[in-house]
Amino acid sequence: MDRKCLRYRDMMPGYIEDRLTENELEDLMLHLQQCEDCREELTTQYLISRGSSLLESDQPFDLNAEINALRNTRNRQMRSRKTFSLAALILEIGALVAFVMEVLLLIRL
Ligand SMILES: [Zn+2]
Repeated sequence: MDRKCLRYRDMMPGYIEDRLTENELEDLMLHLQQCEDCREELTTQYLISRGSSLLESDQPFDLNAEINALRNTRNRQMRSRKTFSLAALILEIGALVAFVMEVLLLIRL
């Protein structure tokens, strides 16, 4: 196992419970795309974390479908957070430009 993978494994409970920062989430998701071992580990950790509630329910259960749904949810979160921070950045730049324009006007007066 790659030593780098250990760090990602520690992040997985946070991934499952949505406790990662945006950077951690992006980092882990990129790694999951490339690392088969870690995808398997995520499945295992997910199963452990959901284990007791799964045993109590009589619902049929498709682990792969659940993992895919989890990954899709995190992907969507990532995209919407990125869009949000881009919008915030554009607003900040707009405010900065407005401020610079005001200063320039003041100087010319
Ligand atoms: Zn890995």
